[in-house]
Amino acid sequence: MGRDSKYDILFEPIQIGPVTAPNRFYQVPHCNVLGHARPRAEAANRAVKAEGGWGVVCTQEVEIHPSADVAPYLEGRLWDERDIPQHRLMTDAVHEHGALAGIELCYNGFHASNLYSRIAPMAPSAAPVHGINPIQARAMNKRDIADVRRWHVEAAKRSRQAGYDIVYVYAGHDMTLLQHFLKPQYNRRSDEYGGSLENRVRFTREVLLDVKEAVGHDCAVAFRFATDELMGPDGLQAESDGRDIVAMLAEIPDLWDVNISDWVNDSSSARFEPNEGYQEVYTAFVKTLTSKPVVGVGRFTSADAMLSQIKRGVLDLIGAARPSIADPFLPRKIDEGRIDEIRECIGCNICVAHDNLVAPIRCTQNPTQGEEWKQGWHPERIDAAVSDDAVLVVGAGPAGLECALQLANRGYAVTLAESAPALGGRISRESALPGMSSYARVRDYREQLLRQKPNVEIYLNNRLSAEDIVALEIPHVLVATGSSWRRDGIGRQHSFPPAGIAGLNIMTPDDIMNGAKLHGRVLIYDDDHYYMGSTLAELCRNQGHEVCLLTPQSCVSMWTENTLEQGKIQARVLSLGIELVVSHRLVELVAGEARIANVYSEQLEQKLTFDSLVMVTSRAPQDELYQALLPLEERFKTLRAIGDCNAPGTVAAAVYDGHAAARSLESEQDFYAPLFAREMPACD
Ligand code: ADP
Ligand code: SF4
Repeated sequence: MGRDSKYDILFEPIQIGPVTAPNRFYQVPHCNVLGHARPRAEAANRAVKAEGGWGVVCTQEVEIHPSADVAPYLEGRLWDERDIPQHRLMTDAVHEHGALAGIELCYNGFHASNLYSRIAPMAPSAAPVHGINPIQARAMNKRDIADVRRWHVEAAKRSRQAGYDIVYVYAGHDMTLLQHFLKPQYNRRSDEYGGSLENRVRFTREVLLDVKEAVGHDCAVAFRFATDELMGPDGLQAESDGRDIVAMLAEIPDLWDVNISDWVNDSSSARFEPNEGYQEVYTAFVKTLTSKPVVGVGRFTSADAMLSQIKRGVLDLIGAARPSIADPFLPRKIDEGRIDEIRECIGCNICVAHDNLVAPIRCTQNPTQGEEWKQGWHPERIDAAVSDDAVLVVGAGPAGLECALQLANRGYAVTLAESAPALGGRISRESALPGMSSYARVRDYREQLLRQKPNVEIYLNNRLSAEDIVALEIPHVLVATGSSWRRDGIGRQHSFPPAGIAGLNIMTPDDIMNGAKLHGRVLIYDDDHYYMGSTLAELCRNQGHEVCLLTPQSCVSMWTENTLEQGKIQARVLSLGIELVVSHRLVELVAGEARIANVYSEQLEQKLTFDSLVMVTSRAPQDELYQALLPLEERFKTLRAIGDCNAPGTVAAAVYDGHAAARSLESEQDFYAPLFAREMPACD
């Protein structure tokens, strides 16, 4: 089936300065923690997107000088000539598929702590660096300004040498020196670079003109600019200075790449920005002020939403970071009339979290993300089956669904047995929680493909026992029976059940998601620190309960600092009137009362009353079936526990595990200890 002609406009070539993008699909710069430490993995990661039809594929932010190094974070680097060959890997790989390669040159100013180079960071005016490192940046003098201008020019020339088609000047995400100069909150200078807006824009204008002069004949110069910081008058605003800046620089860059600041706002999770195109309200004005093409983002995953952006004149190019991570082949699927096969981003920000954790990128929806070079995984291709053997997958949560789908793609005859009346496992329960509906895409994408496969048989309402499985005589058995929340309080704080818990009517998240009725004042003890505690608190509050959320950490849902959600979650919890008790742990329970101690002082400080008590501490594998099968292992060619049944974790981890199990079935690869390709630093 070919492309629906209504989408033809998305495939029109677009002139960007001296270069031409083959279509309107534009992978905007995004981090992946491959970068300068893993250049082969970086090149392979970007190449897959070019192969998948993205007309422009960009790097992550690329440091241009050691005086702005983002260590311990790991991005791109182009400090000098020696960095060029690794960029060549990326540009060659992208060009091979007919796409343009863009590089996001970046000077981080006092967003960088220079923990590697140990040079004092620079800022428009002296100030502590972003974050809490005990480091202050010095105010730049005129010589420094001239240096940074020169470093941009030199990096732009190196970019051209490395084969890039689009070179960025970057003033966004509250992360770059040029944006810092634009903001009166950071720029308290009294010279011609401070004070009036005209003066604050001067440095950016100079850098844009410098870079254009240096490489503008061969490369397009893109300007990445945050039009609004969502801080009201305390930051740039689309309705005032943001708009004025666009007007002042309108025709200088060859391309406007616009978004909102900071990263928390730009990459908002679906829990807080459920709709595609959520940035339009802040960026739509840009096209009215410039004749140059405009690219913008908004977690676009549907062809119709993209079409609407172009037709209504909001954007010229559809920018995507996360949608291109979840489905590197999104453009090709639209082009080939395979819209149903698009693996839509769920907005969970697991990708973002691993940038913050300085771990290579991964994605809940796309388990091959980041593994393209390391394990040779391709998002759309998988080795064919090596035998006619049948395979049984038990359990249809994210691990079982992904495993069954990939085994079917390999050509195996797959039987998928699920004890529940519907597919999805934890996804079906959790996607019903407040703000979590997008997670249903993990199930829906896989279910609709599985149901079309002639080599897959799905059995619902089928709780299999070890005897049932032996009787089926299927040689390969993958057990994906998931996990359940513990009722006994064991978790990070408690290696043994807290005193007094025995005999109490304790609720777990599973009980609540299965519809158990709570009564009166609800106490939720969150020793898990991801989304479950706060979403349950929200749910209970919405049901009209008085709710107290107790956590040993110093803030609610602490791990979501990595997914950029923590501040928003805490604000929502407080706005809902949920009582928040942080830095305290349970010591003892007596009916209707929890005694708690401060985790630092160990002082017994308070008693919290409750009518219902919910433990969100940790999960136990539901591995009884697997344990019962283990003594019979010699009857099977393959017997493996996968996903949460093997070790409870994120949905992303379960999908990955299911995928890895499918790839490694009847292969040389040891599922439990695969051999990765590793990039070894040269020791010359
Ligand atoms: P994961 O995240 O590892 O995929 P889930 O908990 O989401 O795990 O899904 C596990 C699924 O396995 C659930 O839908 C559950 O109903 C199903 N299941 C558990 N035990 C059995 C069994 N003995 N036979 C069939 N299905 C089972
Ligand atoms: Fe989207 Fe989540 Fe994948 Fe990131 S990890 S691309 S947010 S599905």
